[in-house]
Amino acid sequence: MGNSEEKKRLQRIDREHIWHPFTQMKDWIDEQPVIISEAKGCFVRDINGRWYMDGVSSLWVNIHGHRREEINNAIKAQLDKISHSTLLGLANVPSIELAARVIDITPKGLNKVFYSDNGSTSVEVALKMAFQYWRLKGEQERDLFIALKESYHGDTIGAVSLGGIDIFHAAYGPLLFRTLRAPSPYCYRCQLDMDPGSCKNECLDEMERLLRDNKGKVAGIVLEPLVQGAGGMICHPEGYLRGVKELSQKYDTLLILDEVATGFGRTGRMFACEHEGIEPDILCLSKGITGGYLPLAVTVSTDDIYDAFLGEYSELKTFFHGHSYTGNQLGCAAAIASLEIFKQDDTLKGLQPKIEVFRKWMDKVIEFEHVGDARAKGLMGGVELVKDKKSKAEYPLEDRMGWKVVYKAREKGLLLRPLGNVIVIMPPLVITKEDLEQMLDTIAVSVREVTG
Ligand SMILES: *Cc1c(COP(=O)(O)O)cnc(C)c1O
Repeated sequence: MGNSEEKKRLQRIDREHIWHPFTQMKDWIDEQPVIISEAKGCFVRDINGRWYMDGVSSLWVNIHGHRREEINNAIKAQLDKISHSTLLGLANVPSIELAARVIDITPKGLNKVFYSDNGSTSVEVALKMAFQYWRLKGEQERDLFIALKESYHGDTIGAVSLGGIDIFHAAYGPLLFRTLRAPSPYCYRCQLDMDPGSCKNECLDEMERLLRDNKGKVAGIVLEPLVQGAGGMICHPEGYLRGVKELSQKYDTLLILDEVATGFGRTGRMFACEHEGIEPDILCLSKGITGGYLPLAVTVSTDDIYDAFLGEYSELKTFFHGHSYTGNQLGCAAAIASLEIFKQDDTLKGLQPKIEVFRKWMDKVIEFEHVGDARAKGLMGGVELVKDKKSKAEYPLEDRMGWKVVYKAREKGLLLRPLGNVIVIMPPLVITKEDLEQMLDTIAVSVREVTG
């Protein structure tokens, strides 16, 4: 796009008419927006013709790179058949084909696929499903959920009720339902003041106390397994997830895993729960499901949950939930193509050397004066900047330290988005080892330049 009048026009309309998500618009209108016009592989290009590396997979969704021929072709082929019809009272071919594949790759107890459009709705579906399940089984008291501090499950009201990130969620307090809050196993800043070197996952004791004190009242435990993404890429210690699974069984409640961020290979396995060999009762998936091409989500449940909803029409045991675009054919076609690429490219195997590069880099940057912690699971991780390493004192909000590093990296041709003082690193899984090394190098230099 060579015409500078045209660029100015786009910029003006964006400023005048677009309200950007999670964005302080006062800052936004003072800045020069990067307006994206195209992409290829792990790089995106703006209207000025400048290319940037996509360091956060276009907000954690892209898996196999942009403009992957196989996914593009699958969407184009589907376009020539039908783009959308409803799943309310009708079935469609791609949603059937995708459901079979989802059941095939998810943990073995999971057998029923409920479609929706995004991560938040996949969680809403899980909440309503769990709640109604217990009612249908005659347990009327189970109207509480347990979620973790610093957890993030989306932006709709049910998902926000579960959320434990004060700066995002506090504003909506009076609108939310009550959630029981267990400590996050955030070892760098242990919420129980334990020493992570010698603790025995005491945070599980707190979870158990909540379950014991509320016996018969908990509909489910909702968890981002292994990595709490939006909470700051908080990586859980080994055994924690297994411990929660055991507690959910001991106290006879449902385990709902939100793998919206961790699913589809990000942690080095197809799903994070595989690392600990456990199966949830309900699994929420979105973000990477279509390879990052179209909005789609699934909530996958066990036969036991599904069966509880069976009854006569007039008994009203129906699951009363659905969206206009539930089971959208284009989204399902993209998802099928993405899963085919996982097989064809052996994506998960190819990831291992890159994970090794990432780990070694983390060992290096953790030595920086203003890096308090550097943590990752698979190819998703974060670098936590601190004002003072010894006391772990945080940079105050007004310093916008995360943003400063991100802007510095942008000057060097890398797109990132921080979470407070945490620099999030989550490249598309397809990234080459060389590009990954270059990206990590840019981040290290940017952190150094900004933190002095
Ligand atoms: C992003 C995210 C969501 C919400 O997904 P949206 O598609 O943005 O609604 C839910 N849970 C987790 C763990 C996420 O990372």
